[in-house]
Amino acid sequence: PFTPMSDLVREHARQRPGHAALRDDGLALNYAQLDALMDRVAAALQRDGVQPGQAVAICALNSARYAALFLGVLRAGAVVAPLAPSSTAESLASMLRDADAHLLFIDKAAQELVPQGAGAPRCISLDGIAQGQSFEDWLAPEGARPAPVQVQPEAPFNIIYSSGTTGTPKGIVQSHGMRWTHVMRGNRYEYGPGGTTLLATPLYSNTTLVVFFPTIAFGGSVVLMGKFDAARYLQLAQQHRATHTMLVPVQYQRIMALPQFGDFDLSSYRFKFCTSAPFSAALKADVLARWPGSLTEFYGMTEGGGTCILDAHLFPGKLHTVGKPAEGHDIRLIDEDGREVPPGEAGEVVGHSAGMMTSYHNQPEKTREAEWFDPAGKRFIRTGDVGRFDAEGFLTLFDRRKDMIISGGFNIYPSDLEAQLRLHPAVEDVAVVGVPSEQWGETPVAFVVSRAGQAARAEEVMDWYNQRAGKTQRLADLRFVDELPRSAIGKVLKRELRDRYAGPAR
Ligand code: ATP
Ligand code: MG
Repeated sequence: PFTPMSDLVREHARQRPGHAALRDDGLALNYAQLDALMDRVAAALQRDGVQPGQAVAICALNSARYAALFLGVLRAGAVVAPLAPSSTAESLASMLRDADAHLLFIDKAAQELVPQGAGAPRCISLDGIAQGQSFEDWLAPEGARPAPVQVQPEAPFNIIYSSGTTGTPKGIVQSHGMRWTHVMRGNRYEYGPGGTTLLATPLYSNTTLVVFFPTIAFGGSVVLMGKFDAARYLQLAQQHRATHTMLVPVQYQRIMALPQFGDFDLSSYRFKFCTSAPFSAALKADVLARWPGSLTEFYGMTEGGGTCILDAHLFPGKLHTVGKPAEGHDIRLIDEDGREVPPGEAGEVVGHSAGMMTSYHNQPEKTREAEWFDPAGKRFIRTGDVGRFDAEGFLTLFDRRKDMIISGGFNIYPSDLEAQLRLHPAVEDVAVVGVPSEQWGETPVAFVVSRAGQAARAEEVMDWYNQRAGKTQRLADLRFVDELPRSAIGKVLKRELRDRYAGPAR
């Protein structure tokens, strides 16, 4: 039965007060200490007049204190708006307005971004007092107890902003009940007091929260990294005997590329998760071969509704897919006219589940654009991603619809070209985007990160590729770049590449 997150922590604090709950480089909180800190947070919010259902924003790097604050806000029945410290000041200000945040908690990573002047929320600093009040001064005194607040499953839990990969981030309110369904999914992954989850992805992303909350709900331990560093990740994993983790593909890639990878004892790992961005079959195979424990990929979006799961260790022949729809998730594929495509054909992925959002926060127009109804009137959310089901029901993803290239009337999927380019020994990483062309409407160009120690000229790689490619899939240009532009959660920002491209140099 549904139990609020705050009550679960209280129960663990009663049963295992001394068990490690949250740890980072400077702070360790056992469950009793976590529970007491949550009380002081909730009491301070009540003192400040923050009502259940009102939003409190946090814009900071991961830390144990941040995680405790998140849980403390929930205890007061208030809604957490976790915001990215990698945002621009402008986008932070617009998210704060959209969430109608009454307080803003920051750390040094965010202090430059803080909005000033009338209408700006009051600011509390988690790690020093460059701005506003210090957290220690703000907290209610030790031993303070908040007035108890009952939360219902429908009550809002947090408001998460989508990654903004394709445009402005959209606010998505998730309820206590939606979080509870994620927690229950955790049953499959053996969370519990014997487990330690190492988190190196940011708390403002659903990516992280889908493993953070089950860990706490089942009484496990969480170790939080502030800024990600591949070598430091391995040290922490070994030191804390990590059993569970969530990493995005580029983090797996960076960790496994370290020459010292094999020197670490990673035998404690049981479950590894991945989501957020395309994860190549070759990289998945490498993780399975060299890193103990299982590997589970999630495909989904903050909006909910379209989750697929691939237990990669169980399906070595399906690593090019993102798996099958999660239990209770109905996933369909539709064409440009909004009709379901025949079996075996590609189309835009739309999804329905009990846990999907009802609407974007304050954005009725965007909500309508994101909805699709089947002929029976069942409501789905459009993902903007293009995919195809194989005969066994596994979903292969191609690209986001906005990244598809239409050249001379042909649809080109950049992911096809990227997969072929990756086979060249000098290609470490690659992104293909469409740029305007007078002759074709659009034409594909590639941005390539070259592999260390591989001397090849851009023309050579392009000629090598173009000799193998079909006529419509040939590249008009290929550029070497030091790195691909990525969002803080590791997604390649193709719109930046398109903007950056100003025509062939030759
Ligand atoms: P925005 O909607 O603001 O442009 P976003 O779509 O990146 O940003 P999220 O909700 O964080 O925001 O991410 C969901 C998207 O991430 C999916 O629609 C898909 O494109 C991509 N994605 C998620 N999981 C996977 C995966 N396993 N493989 C490939 N892509 C994935
Ligand atoms: Mg999206």
